[in-house]
This record gives sequence, structure tokens and C-alpha cells, in this order.
Amino acid sequence: KKVADRYLKREVLGQGTYGVVFKATDTKNEQTVAIKKIRIGKEKEGVNITALREIKLLKELKHPHIIELIDAFPHKENLHIVFEFMETDLEAVIRDPNLFLSPADVKSYLQMTLKGLEYCHDKWVLHRDMKPNNLLIGPNGQLKLADFGLARIFGSPDRKFTHQVFARWYRAPELLFGAKHYGAAVDVWAAGCIFAELLLRRPFLQGNSDIDQLSKIFAAFGTPKEDQWPDMLCLPDYVEYQPVSAPSLRSLFPTVSEDALDLLSKMFTYDPKSRISIQQALQHRYFTLAPSPTDPLKLPRPI
Ligand code: ADP
Repeated sequence: KKVADRYLKREVLGQGTYGVVFKATDTKNEQTVAIKKIRIGKEKEGVNITALREIKLLKELKHPHIIELIDAFPHKENLHIVFEFMETDLEAVIRDPNLFLSPADVKSYLQMTLKGLEYCHDKWVLHRDMKPNNLLIGPNGQLKLADFGLARIFGSPDRKFTHQVFARWYRAPELLFGAKHYGAAVDVWAAGCIFAELLLRRPFLQGNSDIDQLSKIFAAFGTPKEDQWPDMLCLPDYVEYQPVSAPSLRSLFPTVSEDALDLLSKMFTYDPKSRISIQQALQHRYFTLAPSPTDPLKLPRPI
């Protein structure tokens, strides 16, 4: 039985933030696709229309490092979003104890991530939910960002679904302080966390609540001082914390290059206004100096 007279449903791939994800075949071209079924059934009729309209805008995002959104349509009170199918994701790469990641491999994965982000930030679309399992990897080693723009359309996922605990680890301090107006800098912070995770091979800042997440950030970088981040005091959930001083970043990343450490520190700048932009990050000497990033075709991947 076909969905929308076009897609043949196959097995369930997993339970996502917004609903279940299926593998399917697009009978139009025999291409394998992933269909995300989003539950919006019980809500007012209007949600469907607005969400659908916004999703259609995401179809315009076309880039080698962004997952292609092939189609979107309502079906039985659910919204179905069709994406190109991807083999694996960066979380699987990081967690695989049999994979060795060289500094050039890490650079390649980070560069592809930032290139995808740069393209979307140019179009004023934020990701807002960056994490390693949202960075999918295709058959030729290309990394592509998934779920772009969905967080804004469907709301902050982790407030609705409790299984979504990991996203917290990638959350920028301004979001943890309740900022309502935030920008591209939240994706830069998250990309910094992913960079750190590629280097450490484990999540860098693992808070078990929003408060604990802030404590982990402060333990790593020291409590932010007013002159470092003047706007902090005006954020809705700002509370004063017991000052703690930062260990050197070098002591947290003992084996990484000086260039990597410098870029990392710029991505983890407290004040979002001073934090490095994606564009600046891509021009950082970490990317322009040796070793050059590994060719995606030669990147280690799980078997
Ligand atoms: P989350 O919301 O937790 O990030 P997703 O909704 O993105 O999870 O995905 C749920 C499951 O479906 C995951 O196991 C993921 O590997 C799989 N999946 C999502 N998108 C794709 C895709 N384009 N190709 C292959 N598998 C996918």
C-alpha cells in the first residue's frame, strides 16, 4: 500500500523527536528515502497549514551538506516529511571504539558541519538542535545536516518529549539563561560541543538538568564575568552563580593542536555577540594550515 500514491513504506528506522521515522521506497525513481511522520493530529486545523507552508520553504535549502527534503504532505492527521536516506550518523562514528579518528579526519567532519551551517545561516535559517545524531553520513562519506529549521517550526523538542535529553549538552549558555532572542551563535556553540566531542570521543559537557548543564559549562570555562558578557544580567533566567575559575582549556584537551584549541576557545565564547561566526570559523587557521582535511571518501566509518 502506497503513501500519497508514491512511497512504499518499509521498516521503522527509529523513534525521533517529533515522531517515528520509516524507511521507504520512492516509486517515482526507486530511490530509498526516510519518511518522518510528525504527530500534529489532535491540534487545531491551522497547525497543519502553517507547518506545511514552512516546511515547503525548507525544500528550497539545497546544499551538499544539508539533507535534501524531497517532499512534505499531510496524511491521516500526520505530517509526512520525506528526506534522502542516509547510511549512518556522526554519533555512531564517535561512539565506535574500533574507529580511529586522526586530526585530519576530525577536521574533515567539522568542516563539512560548518559548511552546511554557513549555507543555512546565509539564508537566515537556524538549526537550533545540532547534535551528532543529526549529522548524517552518506555512502560517499559526505556529512549532511538533518532536521534543519524543524526546531523552530515545531517548537523546542526537548520540552515536549522526555527521551530527548541529549540536546541539552549542545545548548548555548544564552538558551540556558532563557534568552528569547537568540541567533546563529547558538549553532556555533553546539558545533563547538561537537568539535570537542570528536576530539574527546565522548560528549564534552554532560549536564543532567538545565541547571547542571550551566554548572558543567562554568566548571569548564569559569563563571562568565559581567565585562565578558554584559547582556547576561538581563536574561530572563539569569541567576548569580558562585564564582568558579576555569582550568586551562589545554588541560581539558591535552593532545590537540594549538590551532584546534584556539578555534575551540572562540566557538565557546560566552557573549553570543563576540562568539566567532561560522564564516569566520571556516577561515580560521585551523582549516587553512596543515594537516588538510581528509577526503570524505577516505573517512573511517562504521561497517
Ligand atoms: P532525533 O529527533 O532524536 O534526532 P530523528 O527523528 O532525526 O531522531 O531520527 C530518528 C531515527 O531515524 C534515527 O535513528 C535516525 O538514525 C533515523 N533517521 C532519521 N533521518 C534519517 C535519514 N534521512 N536517513 C536514514 N535514517 C534516518
